[in-house]
Amino acid sequence: MSTATVSDRVFNFSAGPATLPLKVLQEAQQHLLCLPGVGASILEISHRSPPFEAIIGTAEQDMRTLLGIPDDYAVLFLQGGATTQFSMIPMNFLSASTSADYLLQGAWSKKAIGEAKKCGPVKVVWDGSAEKFSRVPRAGEFQPSEGAAYLHMTSNETIEGIEFHYDPDCGSVPLICDASSDFMHRPIDIKKYALIYAGAQKNVGPAGATVVIIRKDLLDRQVGTQLPTMLDYKKMVAGASMHNTPPVFTIYILHLVMKWLLNDVGGLDKMLQLNQQKANQLYDYMDASGGYYKPHAQTDSRSLMNITWRMGNEDLEKKFVKEAQAAKLDGLKGHRDVGGLRASLYNAFPLEGVAALIDFMKEFQQKNG
Ligand SMILES: *Cc1c(COP(=O)(O)O)cnc(C)c1O
Repeated sequence: MSTATVSDRVFNFSAGPATLPLKVLQEAQQHLLCLPGVGASILEISHRSPPFEAIIGTAEQDMRTLLGIPDDYAVLFLQGGATTQFSMIPMNFLSASTSADYLLQGAWSKKAIGEAKKCGPVKVVWDGSAEKFSRVPRAGEFQPSEGAAYLHMTSNETIEGIEFHYDPDCGSVPLICDASSDFMHRPIDIKKYALIYAGAQKNVGPAGATVVIIRKDLLDRQVGTQLPTMLDYKKMVAGASMHNTPPVFTIYILHLVMKWLLNDVGGLDKMLQLNQQKANQLYDYMDASGGYYKPHAQTDSRSLMNITWRMGNEDLEKKFVKEAQAAKLDGLKGHRDVGGLRASLYNAFPLEGVAALIDFMKEFQQKNG
């Protein structure tokens, strides 16, 4: 059997599934044959067994501590990815006689809108397409419609690389947020939100689970009757994510990531500081490159998670990706829909990787500039 070691690992700029904390991988590796005191691996035990109940319970409790989630919110671990939430939200809360507000901010919010339209009327209350999705709305630039079933936003558009750096205020209209690609990268004012959802595979674990944080009074606004059980928030809350077999391995890794955030990083204030440090080094370097590297996002909307940029022409961009890959800087090609380059610097991405990328960029510009 050939083996690989830590030194074989590249700097992984993938947008998702994405890099995980080394410590988490090492612990999972160490305990994969046998969970301490259990006599079997996490992959082999019942989801109704006490060891797994302790794992899912700790995952939820640590997430509550880190984000300051109050008791009137439920935390769920669902399946079907964030994409299933695009449908589940309108199926539960939007009917033909109401209307839901959406912010059109980029590729993912566009998909969410497409799914919602199948369930009922949708009103786009802010549209960033004229500015090529280079920024998110500023505070006060959009108003929720009176009586709207909810307003849907995307805290970070993963493909364009634009991000909200504030928690919008929607008054009495429930605010729903797709936080898939920046979940837990900073502290948030959770009370501003009625529902937050995030696929685990960008910032908090491997693929397979979607975290949903839902204010319980929202359940009283359910409009769908005859909802499929697996798409019914009320039933998922009542069953505490265990109506059926939950994605046990993903939840196990997520619980290790929560521990890492709490004990190794030291909480979300610290996480934000580190994320700002990483992203700002890269943006500052590009701003000083005389236009050789041109960030896509407008300054006030620059994402700390997905840094996107263009270069002089597509051939140069291709050459950049190819040579970077050879230098163990992996996954820098931009999304096929928008082109260019993208460096995803999620929570677990190390600072040394940013320094390595900047060194590479300097050298590339000297040779090809
Ligand atoms: C990746 C992503 C999704 C889709 O997630 P899946 O889990 O693959 O369904 C949705 N929204 C955003 C913002 C994303 O980054």
